[in-house]
Amino acid sequence: MSNNISSIHNCYGCGVCAAACAKKIIEIKLNDKGFYEPRIINTNKCTNCGLCMDVCAFNHQELANDEQRPLKSYAAWSKEYAVQRKCSSGGVGYELGRTLLTQGYQVCGVRYNPEGNRAEHYIASTPEELIPAIGSKYIQSYTVDGFRAIDRKKKYLVTGTPCQMDSFRRYIRKFKVEDNFVLMDFFCHSVPSMLAWKQYLHIVEQTVGKVNYVSWRNKRTGWHDSWAMSIDGEKTADKVNWHDSYNLLIREKKNYLYSRLSQGDIFYNLFLGDFCCNRACQKECKYKYNQSSADIRIGDLWGKTYSKNEDGVSALVAFTQKGCEIVQQLNCQLTEHPFEIVAEGQMKQNCHTAHLAAIAWKWLLSGKYKDAKDWKRLILAEKVLQLPKRVIRKIKSYL
Ligand SMILES: Cc1cc2nc3c(=O)[nH]c(=O)nc-3n(C[C@H](O)[C@H](O)[C@H](O)COP(=O)(O)OP(=O)(O)OC[C@H]3O[C@@H](n4cnc5c(N)ncnc54)[C@H](O)[C@@H]3O)c2cc1C
Ligand code: SF4
Ligand code: SF4
Repeated sequence: MSNNISSIHNCYGCGVCAAACAKKIIEIKLNDKGFYEPRIINTNKCTNCGLCMDVCAFNHQELANDEQRPLKSYAAWSKEYAVQRKCSSGGVGYELGRTLLTQGYQVCGVRYNPEGNRAEHYIASTPEELIPAIGSKYIQSYTVDGFRAIDRKKKYLVTGTPCQMDSFRRYIRKFKVEDNFVLMDFFCHSVPSMLAWKQYLHIVEQTVGKVNYVSWRNKRTGWHDSWAMSIDGEKTADKVNWHDSYNLLIREKKNYLYSRLSQGDIFYNLFLGDFCCNRACQKECKYKYNQSSADIRIGDLWGKTYSKNEDGVSALVAFTQKGCEIVQQLNCQLTEHPFEIVAEGQMKQNCHTAHLAAIAWKWLLSGKYKDAKDWKRLILAEKVLQLPKRVIRKIKSYL
C-alpha cells in the first residue's frame, strides 16, 4: 500500500503536501462539494517517501505543537487610525506583516483574485504588496502557488487558518528551518463551500456585472456591524436593476454593492449560519479556542470589555516565546488581559449544521443557480426553526 496522500479525502485542503512533494505530483483541486483536496496526478513518479503524509495535519491526531498554550494575550489595535479602520478587526495582522518586512522577512498572506474568483496565498516583499492581504476573505484559500514560492533558506511570516499553519509547522520542522519562520493563524469559525461563493457571485453579478473587487468587512456602520460585503463590478448604470426586489443587496452607485449580514446578506447567512461548512471543520477541527501550532493567533475581540469600541479591536495571543518578542515590537496599542477575556465570544466547539443544510446542499450540488428569492426563503425558514418552541407555539396561536 502506498504511503502517500492518495487515501486522504475531505481534508483541510491546506495544500502543504503539494508544496512539500519534491516530485511535484500533487495537485490541489476543488472536490464535488467545493472544498480543496489533494490528488496525485502521476502515481508512477511517486517514490513513497511519505513526506506528504508527514506534513499533513489531517493525518495526525495531535497538533504539531501539542503542548503549546497561550503565553500572553492582548487587546490590540494599530496606532495608525487608517489601518485600524481598514482592517477586519484592529489591524494587527497588517502591522505584524509591516514590522517583519522591516526585519528582512517576506510575508505569505492571502489576497482575493477576481479573475479566478478565489482567495489565494501569495508573497509580499514590500508594504505596498502587503495591502491586498488586508482583510479577511471568508472563503478557503488556494495555497499552493504561494507556499511553493517560499524559499526555505529565507525568512517569512506565513499567515493562514490554524489547520494550514499546523501542517506548515510540520513542513518547516521536517526541513529543520523553523528558525526562518513566524507563523500566524486566527480564531477560525470554518470555511464555506466554494459552491456557495459561486452561487453568491452569480446573484451579485446580475446586478454589478463581472466582479473585480471584493472586501468582506466594512466598518462604515461600526466594527460590531462590519460583516459587510463591498463589491465592485464592471457593469454600467443603464444595465443595472436599481430596485433590488429581493431587498438583500443595497445598491449605492452604478457598479457597487454593499450588503450586510444584519440586513440579510445571503453569503454571510450561508457561511455563519453553518449551511455549507467543510465537513472537516465540523468533524475534524482540532484548533478551536486555545489550540494552535502558530506563534501568534489573532481575531476579533468580541465580548463585554470592548463592546463600545466601533473602530475595531484585535485579539492578539502569543503562543511561543518568539511570538511574545515580536508582539512587543508592533506599531500597536497593546493592553494585556487574561486569555479568557481576549478570547471571549470565540468558539470552543466546532461549528454546527443548520437544520436546513441538507436543502442548501441539494441546491449547491444540483449545479443549477438558484434565485436570491429561494436562498432568502431558506434562510428565513431556518431562522424560524431556530426560534424557541414557546415562540413558535405563540405564532401558531395567532394563525
Ligand atoms: C475563514 C475565516 C474564518 C475566521 N473566523 C474567525 C472567528 O471565528 N473568530 C475571529 O475572531 N476571527 C475569525 N477570523 C479572523 C478575522 O476575521 C480577522 O482576520 C482577524 O480578526 C484579523 O483582523 P486584522 O484586522 O488584525 O487583520 P488584517 O490585517 O485584516 O489581516 C487579515 C489576515 O488574514 C489572512 N487571511 C485573510 N483571508 C484568509 C483566508 N481565507 N485564509 C487564510 N488566511 C487569510 C491575511 O493574509 C491576513 O494576514 C476568520 C478569518 C477567516 C479568513
Ligand atoms: S510520497 Fe513523496 S513522492 Fe509520493 S506524493 Fe507524497 S511527497 Fe510526493
Ligand atoms: S474551522 Fe478548523 S478545520 Fe476548518 S478551516 Fe478553520 S482551522 Fe481549518
